[in-house]
Amino acid sequence: SDATIHHKAQRGRLFVLSGPSGVGKSTVLGLVRAQLPALHYSISATTRQPRAGERDGVHYHFVDTDTFACLVQAGEMLEHAQFAGNFYGTPRTEVESRLDAGQDVLLEIEVQGARQVRASGGVGSEAILLFLAPPSFEELARRLTGRGTEDVATRTARLDAARAELAAEPEFDHTVVNTDVAVATSALVDLMSQ
Ligand code: 5GP
Repeated sequence: SDATIHHKAQRGRLFVLSGPSGVGKSTVLGLVRAQLPALHYSISATTRQPRAGERDGVHYHFVDTDTFACLVQAGEMLEHAQFAGNFYGTPRTEVESRLDAGQDVLLEIEVQGARQVRASGGVGSEAILLFLAPPSFEELARRLTGRGTEDVATRTARLDAARAELAAEPEFDHTVVNTDVAVATSALVDLMSQ
């Protein structure tokens, strides 16, 4: 008989975190990543201008619109979407190779992208969709105004987008309400370490 032992690596799990702009995704995500250092965080490409303190290759791959279109055309985006006037997308190769190597991967993307991941077949069909929700729309509007990183037009676009994002919440596997950052963080860590 064949005594060869085939080691089939267990595939990593793909987590997708969405939630409206201003809900506190970056803060919670920073804390989640600190508690789950083995998790691979996918760095997206975007055509948005860097904010103060954002670095290319760390927060995003900042690209121009032509480059972004080429990447999409070449099939190199696992998903992509337009959000508040800019394009965002998840580079496919890095995500797939990490999952193949057995590493868990986290995407932080908006809801159209989350839907595409789920519908994409392949690595996406078993994705676990997590939604970070604000305590209320009023609280979200207050936070988005208070953070002061956007001008009025951008803020309005983001609040409109937030309404649409909140409506998509039932499509997600799990919802965590961000009333308290520490509580929301541990809820997400629990979901991702099961
Ligand atoms: P921001 O401009 O505030 O960094 O991001 C705006 C929105 O785009 C957020 O909801 C964020 O989750 C989402 N986003 C970031 N990267 C991606 C991506 O690769 N794909 C998609 N679909 N959305 C993304």
